[in-house]
Order: sequence, then C-alpha cells, then structure tokens
Amino acid sequence: MKKGSRLIDEILEHIWKLKERGSKSYARVIDAVNDKDAYEAMRSMEKAGLVSIRDDTVEFDKKGEERARDLIRRHRLAERLFYDVFEVSNKETEDTACEMEHILSPSVTDSVCAFLGHPPTCPHGKPIPRGECCLKYRSEYRPLVVQLKELEVGSSGRIVFIVPSESSRIERLASMGIVPGSIIRLKKKRPSFVLEIDETTLAIDDRIAEEIYVKQI
Ligand SMILES: [Zn+2]
Ligand SMILES: [Zn+2]
Repeated sequence: MKKGSRLIDEILEHIWKLKERGSKSYARVIDAVNDKDAYEAMRSMEKAGLVSIRDDTVEFDKKGEERARDLIRRHRLAERLFYDVFEVSNKETEDTACEMEHILSPSVTDSVCAFLGHPPTCPHGKPIPRGECCLKYRSEYRPLVVQLKELEVGSSGRIVFIVPSESSRIERLASMGIVPGSIIRLKKKRPSFVLEIDETTLAIDDRIAEEIYVKQI
C-alpha cells in the first residue's frame, strides 16, 4: 500500500495527465489511481488546499498545480536521462523515473535539465514542464546533450534523441540514417546545415537542426 505523500503525489500526477488530455473528471482520476485509499486522500488534498472538487470535476489549486508540475517535470527528465542517455530498458526507466520524481532536489533537477539541453518533451512525446533553468538558459554547466545547431562545425556527435515538430518527419529522417545512435559530423552551418553520416553527406533545414539532440563526442 502506498502511504501518505506518495499517494498524494501519484494522484496529483494523474490529475495533471488527465488535464493534458482535456479531462477534469473526478471519477477518471479515482479510476486511474486505482487505490482504495484514493477517496480519503482526495479529501485530505482538498483540505490541504491542493485541489478543489465540485460534483464530478477536480481542479488544481495553485499549490497542487505547482507540486504536480514539479513531479511531472522530474519524472519526464528522468526518463530522458535513463532511456536516451544511459540506454536503460523501458521498464527499468519507468521504475527509476517513478523513484527519481520524489527525490530529486530542485537544483539537481535543473542540472539534469541543462545537461540534457533543456529537452521540450519526454521519450513518449509528452511535454516536460519548463523550469527556471530553461528560461534563463545560462550554460553554467557544459551540457552533455545539445541541439545539433549548437554543435561546432567540424565536430562530431552521437544522436541521442529527436523531437520532431511533425511526426511524419521521423520516418523521413530515419530513411536518411538520422536516428538515435547514429554518429554525425557537422560540416557546415551556412547556407544550410550539412552533415556526414557514415560516408554520406546530407543537407538539412535549420528547423530540423533544432529538433535533433546530440551528445558531443
Ligand atoms: Zn514519458
Ligand atoms: Zn531547463
């Protein structure tokens, strides 16, 4: 049985995820949480000023929304870190992310975010709530992962993940060998981005160069 604050965290996350899908249904939250203590936990959350429940709708109060936002941010950043960078299996990534979301401190979270080049989405394509680090974008940390457009001409990198603005693009990029794991060398940035993969030279749009995240090697 999940006790106390863990259960509350889990409920907050479900509310956040349902809201992303356009639902505020109290019944759906209870359903998703699937814990016999959920009703009682929701009542205590209402008393604590985390959520407001009216008929079948549940809304965040400011405090609850902030806490949910931070949890989701930590969870999705942990997914990026373990799945993309350390190449840990899907299942293990999920378990680890579920632990990390409760224990990462705000400054460690921002370091991870900066390290990963402030990724906009998790590996499942869900948005990662922005942190202060993303807004400031000061690179106190030399990021491990950068957008391809930040790579210096002449240097090489390994593609870690791709965040396409159009989902159809992934297949087109894959057909050119632009997939996570590929080693690329940046040959030119102007007038357009020119890279080399294996023995092949390719030119890509600036927009696409912003969607490809690479680890410098
Ligand atoms: Zn995810
Ligand atoms: Zn950031």
